Amino acid sequence: MQNRPEKRKILVTGASRGIGAAITRRLLAKGSQVIGVARDFTGWPEGQPQLETFSLDLADLDGLPHQLGEIARLHPELDGLVLNAGSGQFGSLEQFSYRQIREMVETNLLQHIFIARALIPRLKRLGYGDLIIIGSEAALTGGRKGAVYSACKFALRGLAQSLREECSQSGVRVSLINPGMVDTPFYDNLDFAPGEAPENHLRAEDVANAVEMVLQAHPGTVFDEININPLKKVIRFKK
Ligand code: NAP
Repeated sequence: MQNRPEKRKILVTGASRGIGAAITRRLLAKGSQVIGVARDFTGWPEGQPQLETFSLDLADLDGLPHQLGEIARLHPELDGLVLNAGSGQFGSLEQFSYRQIREMVETNLLQHIFIARALIPRLKRLGYGDLIIIGSEAALTGGRKGAVYSACKFALRGLAQSLREECSQSGVRVSLINPGMVDTPFYDNLDFAPGEAPENHLRAEDVANAVEMVLQAHPGTVFDEININPLKKVIRFKK
């Protein structure tokens, strides 16, 4: 087991808003360097030397291996990955076109597998590192109107479990964090959202707390899976 440097260099996908932005802010506050990936960083304040952003459409799978290779070349000391980017569409399966199904799977599953495929060998060579996947309560239980989203999140759970087995001998830790409903822009284009009372939703910072806990654990300790939920689950349907 190699000693990890105190200051980490961590790639966070979906860093432009919501949970990924909260994780990015937390990592920066703790002195880590962050490589943020998303399509649109126009909302981020400039002048953060510890943050480098890459504007990428992660669902563009054909171009992804090359883009990831570039990131790895520019940042050989990268020692952590937070696979967080995703989006939700909900409805009965027959309400999705075949194209929408494919786009959902590309965005919520395949791009994560591609990133792990491209970058985990580097962590293994370092002899330490963390892969943290942001799953969901939908990784644990399927539900009405969530078939495609839940299928992707269940698959991420299998990915995390398998990679944990594959990586532990190399000193690389793999963790899955499954939040319940979090108050983020995820719901902006959906017809429902978590309840507004503080006990009806998580805050993105709650997920950042879990990420910080995973990263700060003793190098020989891995949090396999963390489930976090609001005290009282309430779904608010928009008019
Ligand atoms: P959000 O506020 O909508 O943020 C999603 C992030 O993913 C954004 O930074 C977005 O950036 C990025 N993203 C989406 N598609 C992308 C693509 N094709 N290429 C690159 N980046 C892309 O949602 P969130 O609530 O923070 O969700 C983050 C993760 O947590 C997702 O995996 C979601 O499934 C999971 N989650 C959310 C909740 C919840 O209740 N909010 C609960 C459990 C799990 P750009 O648009 O700039 O590309």
